Amino acid sequence: MTRSVLRYVQWTMSPDPAEDSPEMIHELGCGTCRATSGAGGDFEAVRDWAFAHTGANPSHRRYHELIWRVWRMAPAGGEGP
Ligand SMILES: [Zn+2]
Repeated sequence: MTRSVLRYVQWTMSPDPAEDSPEMIHELGCGTCRATSGAGGDFEAVRDWAFAHTGANPSHRRYHELIWRVWRMAPAGGEGP
């Protein structure tokens, strides 16, 4: 028999305050061929990929963007378990 101790914990969620955590992560995907830029914290680099992709494939002109924000969960009463 396995025994477990469970307790009820309230959690809060906020943007990750870690210095090495990017504010946002961007990724662009081509709407024609589904190629993607890969995810990155530097939007300029992601956008550069789209310009290069359209340059190499002039009929590929529609893109979708995924934006990720990094969030962190913490116990409501402070750092606990
Ligand atoms: Zn494409």
